[in-house]
Amino acid sequence: MYGWAGQRLRVDLTTGEITKEPLSYEYRRKWIGGRGFNSDVIYNEVPADMDPFDPRTRVCFGMGPVSGTAAPSTGRVTVTCKSPLTGGFGDSNMGGHWGAEVKYAGYDQIIVQGRAKHPVYIWIDDDKVEIRDARHLWGKFAREADPMIKQELGDEDIHIMMIGPAGENMVRFACTFNDVWRAAGRTGHGAVIGSKNLKAIATRGSGTVKIADPKKMMEVCNRLRQAFKTDPMKIGLNTIGSLCLINVANRDGWFPWNNFQFGSHPLASNMSGEVHAETVLKHREGCYACPIACGRFTEIRDGKYAGENFGGPEYEHAVPTGPRCGIIEDANDIWHNARLTNDYGLDAIECGGVISSAMEWFQRGLITTKDTGGLELTWGNAEVVDTLINQIGQRKGFGNILAEGADRAADKLGLPKEAHYYTITTRGMTLPGDDPRGLGFGYGLSFAMGTRGGCDHLRSLCCLELSGALYPGLNTKLLGDESANKPVTTNGKPYMVYYEENQKATTDCLQVCCFTTHWSYAVLTPDQVEYLNAVTGLDFTEEEFQEIGERIVNLERAYWNRLMSGVREDTVPERFLKEPMPPNGVDYQTNIGATLPLNEMLPKYYQYRDWDSKTGFPSERKLKQLGLDYVAKDLAPLRSKYLSDAEKKKVKYYY
Ligand code: SF4
Repeated sequence: MYGWAGQRLRVDLTTGEITKEPLSYEYRRKWIGGRGFNSDVIYNEVPADMDPFDPRTRVCFGMGPVSGTAAPSTGRVTVTCKSPLTGGFGDSNMGGHWGAEVKYAGYDQIIVQGRAKHPVYIWIDDDKVEIRDARHLWGKFAREADPMIKQELGDEDIHIMMIGPAGENMVRFACTFNDVWRAAGRTGHGAVIGSKNLKAIATRGSGTVKIADPKKMMEVCNRLRQAFKTDPMKIGLNTIGSLCLINVANRDGWFPWNNFQFGSHPLASNMSGEVHAETVLKHREGCYACPIACGRFTEIRDGKYAGENFGGPEYEHAVPTGPRCGIIEDANDIWHNARLTNDYGLDAIECGGVISSAMEWFQRGLITTKDTGGLELTWGNAEVVDTLINQIGQRKGFGNILAEGADRAADKLGLPKEAHYYTITTRGMTLPGDDPRGLGFGYGLSFAMGTRGGCDHLRSLCCLELSGALYPGLNTKLLGDESANKPVTTNGKPYMVYYEENQKATTDCLQVCCFTTHWSYAVLTPDQVEYLNAVTGLDFTEEEFQEIGERIVNLERAYWNRLMSGVREDTVPERFLKEPMPPNGVDYQTNIGATLPLNEMLPKYYQYRDWDSKTGFPSERKLKQLGLDYVAKDLAPLRSKYLSDAEKKKVKYYY
């Protein structure tokens, strides 16, 4: 067999049983790998109504057939489980080197189930797999525990996936890291891993990935690496990282100031990538086989946080606990907060989301210092944000309530329905720091439709409207409509979202970084199919590749449908639909007055998907066409139930 290792590893932490399961040709051809394998396991092995913290739930780590090869950026891993934040389908994706190492150890996927009696970690040393005591590691930050494990195993070069204290404390938006700093941020799987008493998976692999046609593979990889040399987005990402977006976001009005009450701020450039590079950048980093190397390493050099250092930040890492909470004057406050979310192992997006929601409740008198334990949740109060991140990570004080996520916190505090208006969530998960009234209407539609809850910039990645103008002719080539490259228009957007969702799903099956295929467009679908075939020796076609992406999106959608979630939740926070974008002292802001015309785009999107516009369920015809007959059977009795009066009364978010 070429490309795939051909087996998955399953570890049951209740029984201690460790099994290796072969992956058949038909299975690999149907799902490719990574996200495809994971979504299939969650759909079939984790009932939609199971408590996400039930020991029987699974956490899956998926690698792809090209993981660990010379194709660009092949170190990605998808982590999937039933989300404790949304109660629905949840996955996230991380870079680093761990994914390649797992492939070298001989596995395409790891499934963890059960719950250990005390904290443990899994040690994978090629085909030798052990469950080891981790009681001495519990409570440690990844930066502390990572070297301890390496010392214990006597190998500096192993790669480790790990949760932080937030995961151990089952904060519902805890995440995982590998190589200390590379996070799979979203949907709260760190809490599920913590609920299983699993601290880490340390891995050493001494094997290789067998390539069917090495000559062809080198030819394709060399060609693609040449293309990156002149790719405009690659150059920006490498030079100033994803913080290159700050000044663009401020100009185009999608900078999420004070929980999206405004889209710009006169001081935004204080935290721009350019300023970061001049003041606190220590060095640049890249994940496995990455020609872009967008990673940053930061060291604060002055002020009260002088000497603090950490991996990052990314745009979505820095913005939520920075400007979304009204902090901009001293960028060191922002870098410090990003460092804290890393150390605790928190999804920075959700963490900033829940804190800024609470700040807006405070602003509007829905909560007072009586609720917050005396904390003044005023905008820009950096000290309070620092306190709350610590409280959330440790589940202490008011932070213990916020650790439940914004929608649940509103209910726990007994707040009126109005409080949910300010949580900026869809299906219980907050949106990233990107206001669709400026970032683009395609992004807005994708936020409403994403299959992992409130969804975000890493789901359908409508970069054809963000960076599309830098690639003249690309929108015409892929979508048949060049005008779709303009962000604040509905032209071509329903098809763009349909196309990009499918494309991103297959990219996540290969487990390559989407910055190679979206932000930058140096690698297109035909290139991906070319290197997939060179590695595996098979004959995937572009049509088959795209159909696999569509299959995955439909399967994940069906998981939500089994929870009675459909068209009623296909929306974005009302703020984006109702509040025209106000000015905020930036005279070059381009989107004053904009709202998101979501309803103009939804009907066409359902048509492209062949989903029923009354329920949002995939049609039986579509499911059967995609080889998902068993899913069609599961959904059949639920279609009419969805339209019943009892179901209509359900709230918009899930837990
Ligand atoms: S582009 Fe950035 S996130 Fe993606 S693989 Fe490269 S370094 Fe990692």
